[in-house]
Amino acid sequence: MAEEKTENKDAEKKPVEEQAKEKEATKDIPNEKKETKYVKKGAFDKEGWKAKTDIGKKVKSGEIENIDYILDNGINILEAELVDVLIPNIETDLLLIGQSKGKFGGGQRRVFKQTQKKTREGNKPHFSTCAIVGNHNGYIGIGFGKSKETVPAREKAIRNAKLNIFKIRRGCGSWQCGCKTPHSIPFKVSGKCGSVKITLMPAPKGTGLTVEKECQKILGMVGIKDAWSKTIGQTGSKNNLVLACESALRKLMSTKIKHDSMEGLGIVEGKIEEDVKEPEEEVKEEKAEAEKGKKKNE
Ligand SMILES: [Zn+2]
Repeated sequence: MAEEKTENKDAEKKPVEEQAKEKEATKDIPNEKKETKYVKKGAFDKEGWKAKTDIGKKVKSGEIENIDYILDNGINILEAELVDVLIPNIETDLLLIGQSKGKFGGGQRRVFKQTQKKTREGNKPHFSTCAIVGNHNGYIGIGFGKSKETVPAREKAIRNAKLNIFKIRRGCGSWQCGCKTPHSIPFKVSGKCGSVKITLMPAPKGTGLTVEKECQKILGMVGIKDAWSKTIGQTGSKNNLVLACESALRKLMSTKIKHDSMEGLGIVEGKIEEDVKEPEEEVKEEKAEAEKGKKKNE
């Protein structure tokens, strides 16, 4: 027992000195870690990004501030980081295009679609997935990724989605509503891929998205609140359904509309800019006028 006590004492004595040293040593490390973590948690590290293409350099220097310049001129986006800078509040989501193994007609829907190749060594699995990016305000990108493992497949899909970003038109094309606010789509559009054909139709306010679930995610991500739909073909193959939905949404922009009629019907291209400052200014002006009136009265 005595030996143990002495050992304990020694053990207690040493740690005090060591702890002090450790504290001094660890004081600097946690701060650094916190800083690096803080940068990673933020939206996007703009200064850490090294731009490679001409457009990327222009975006980084602040010459291009609006993504409409790139999309309207048909410039190819070759860097995914560029989209992070121009649309700061961008969100990503994965679609359920796969299916797990299961008895009696298949299992649950999954994010990753797993396929296999038979080789001499055994089965060689591959994973593919579909990602969507958007800001709930007029911009949407859809991309596919495929790899031997799940994580790189997801990263590839998100990168491809950012490179494929496009904008849509919103409006109210429903004759039951006619409110001229951009809560639905301005006219009927349809898209096709393989046997799948999807038709999106404008709906009055309060309808919600009467669309298949994966297409609901897409329409929600782009900022459409009300829509009706109709599908033909093998909609169980989600790859084709998603691509058909994408081609339908792209037709919203490719259809020609006269500029005058766009304003009259309340059709909006891309994002809706919220004017928050104007009411405050009006209030200030009113106050100033009231003060002037008081002074005159005095
Ligand atoms: Zn409406």
